Amino acid sequence: MSQETLFTRIINGQIPGKFVHRDEDIVAIRDINPQAPTHVLVIPVKPLPSLAEAGPEDEALLGRLLLTAKRVAEQEGLAEGGYRLVINVGGQGGQTVPHLHVHLLGGRQMTWPPG
Ligand code: AMP
Repeated sequence: MSQETLFTRIINGQIPGKFVHRDEDIVAIRDINPQAPTHVLVIPVKPLPSLAEAGPEDEALLGRLLLTAKRVAEQEGLAEGGYRLVINVGGQGGQTVPHLHVHLLGGRQMTWPPG
């Protein structure tokens, strides 16, 4: 897959990003418009447009995505107090960037239901 997205441009260094994790398959960057004291986006390098386009061949990648989110949460000091992971899917799901990503939010009390 070679589609260009905002996040592939950040991963390739064409647009600046604040990386808190980077490996061959997954990166994590600070959200430019944070909705909590800690707001990190955990992103597969493979530019899947959303979770809706993931298939059985992505099973291991999706597992790594969640485990990486957990590790970044620990790295950010959120493990004890707790945190929230969010995946917006499609327009009604509130997704604005068509490249699968997990929001890691923490550092304040979360409320339910989300908006
Ligand atoms: P979503 O609405 O779920 O697609 O989330 C997209 C997220 O990307 C939003 O929280 C934006 O604030 C964030 N975002 C947009 N542009 C950038 C950027 N250049 N660097 C980091 N985060 C960004």
